[in-house]
Amino acid sequence: MRLSQFHLATVKEVPADAEIASHRLMLRAGMIRKLASGLYTWSPLGLRVLRKVETIVREEMDRAGAIEMLMPSVQPRELWEETGRWEKFGGQLLKIKDRKGQEFCYGPTHEEVVTDFARNELKSYKQLPVNFYQIQTKFRDEIRPRFGVMRAREFLMKDAYSFHLTQDSLAETYAAMYQAYVRIFTRLGLTFRAVQADTGAIGGNASHEFQVLADSGEDAIAFSDGSDYAANLEKAEALAPAAARPAPAAALQRVDTPTQKTIDDIAGFLQLSPRQCVKTLLVRGRDGLVALCLRGDHEINEVKAGKLAELPGESVLASEDEILATTGTRPGFIGPVGLPASIPVIVDRDAAVLADFVCGGNVDRTHCTGANWERDARITRVADLRNVVEGDLSPDGSGVLHIARGIEVGHVFQLGTKYAEALGATVVDETGKPQVMTMGCYGIGVSRIVAAAIEQRHDEAGILWPEAMAPWRVAVCVINPKNAPAVSAAAEALYQALRQRGIEALLDDRGVRAGSMFADMELIGIPHRVVVSERGLAAGTLEYRARGNSESRSLTEDELLALLG
Ligand code: ATP
Ligand code: MG
Ligand code: MG
Ligand code: MG
Repeated sequence: MRLSQFHLATVKEVPADAEIASHRLMLRAGMIRKLASGLYTWSPLGLRVLRKVETIVREEMDRAGAIEMLMPSVQPRELWEETGRWEKFGGQLLKIKDRKGQEFCYGPTHEEVVTDFARNELKSYKQLPVNFYQIQTKFRDEIRPRFGVMRAREFLMKDAYSFHLTQDSLAETYAAMYQAYVRIFTRLGLTFRAVQADTGAIGGNASHEFQVLADSGEDAIAFSDGSDYAANLEKAEALAPAAARPAPAAALQRVDTPTQKTIDDIAGFLQLSPRQCVKTLLVRGRDGLVALCLRGDHEINEVKAGKLAELPGESVLASEDEILATTGTRPGFIGPVGLPASIPVIVDRDAAVLADFVCGGNVDRTHCTGANWERDARITRVADLRNVVEGDLSPDGSGVLHIARGIEVGHVFQLGTKYAEALGATVVDETGKPQVMTMGCYGIGVSRIVAAAIEQRHDEAGILWPEAMAPWRVAVCVINPKNAPAVSAAAEALYQALRQRGIEALLDDRGVRAGSMFADMELIGIPHRVVVSERGLAAGTLEYRARGNSESRSLTEDELLALLG
């Protein structure tokens, strides 16, 4: 690419709301421009990087035997009614109406659509297993879009869905997807960890997240120094042995709560998606305490918690340790409302803030407490939710837990029969009997990866792309091209030589000052830089510098080509 014919638009100033490095650098490099909250335009420069990521994801999905397809982003309400998620999905679901008044949503995910496709297309066990994927735009009306494309409302996801006759077959594809993800993030040049993820109230099956390690990450992950154990902190908290926990705190505090609200009301009030309500705890007690623990993902509302008012006794709100101290039992048992038993729940001690009605919920891994339903109608306190601490014993007993922050860039999940059952997606088995298919789903945040990579790799001057993600591998910087035709010609010849060898090169032929040319190339993160100047030409050499290295070297063209080859 000749830069004189490209649209490069680097800027010095960025808005104050760009809180983290990747957001600032993407704006400064001109990779993205904000259209509205959570909505971003990818400039030609940004798109080059996005496509690099997409290509690697596609290659590895194909290699792992998945088959690409493309589903609509606009999805009919009726389909979402079939799984019950039209209501259950919560505030992240953007609902729209067409001119006839028919209702649709802008797809935040595609289980419904792909299962509908599967129920029509797949008839026999002989067609299984099959793994469909797409790379497509999603919309989630995030409660707090932030960090640019890291947590956007419209974003690019690779989502795959596999269909099976048996759990064993699902486990096999799940393992293949896990390996494909390891390959993808390794090829992208990222430092990452696969961690056990929380499967929420629906429980049961396996789930792993792929977390790019970065201090600004919204997730906390715990990993053992004695084994491969690694988990999202939520999961680690659920599993951590009691001995590793801090000592129980003081007695329960009571709340006088004349409440008539349902759990759905609470979720609605907090404007959280059900998934974000992972750790809301309300406790009512009389003789034994009854804990009403919301631990959900998308399915929380399905659990249909009963009216709080129907529970007997006074209301109290307590932290887990307080409940443990008072009852000798960890909270997580649910009596009258029909939630599954033994759901582990952890709540911040600060949840014991008193009010007419107090509840808590998770927003972006942060536990919000002190929401006063009756009085303030707003969240008044935010406290970090963290029960497992650095140095705790790992749940598998293998060693000491360390805690790091991560950015969730991928998520694999064994879904089981939930969606296929709801939508009646069956195939006939060997005996000719219809069987509900078993499913897995596998997501990657393609656009989030771009930001995550920058978060992990940058310096004061700008981005440090891993080679696999760089918009171009090498920048050819031409000094004073207008005044020195020989320099211009030499740069052109080098540019052609690079192209012939399949080395992606950016020829900076804009004729701008050397200083601003170098600053731009550093900002946009090109891994290799070559300077073609009159002086170098006279000496028969090129000045080469690797991004992130402060030393330049003089190389002949052959040496340079060998180095980049
Ligand atoms: P998060 O916990 O960050 O909200 P999620 O668990 O809701 O993510 P999934 O439903 O697992 O997301 O979707 C698959 C992938 O899509 C995630 O692993 C993440 O990389 C990406 N993703 C999810 N939400 C967003 C978003 N708002 N902006 C950009 N990427 C996203
Ligand atoms: Mg989310
Ligand atoms: Mg998540
Ligand atoms: Mg996830």
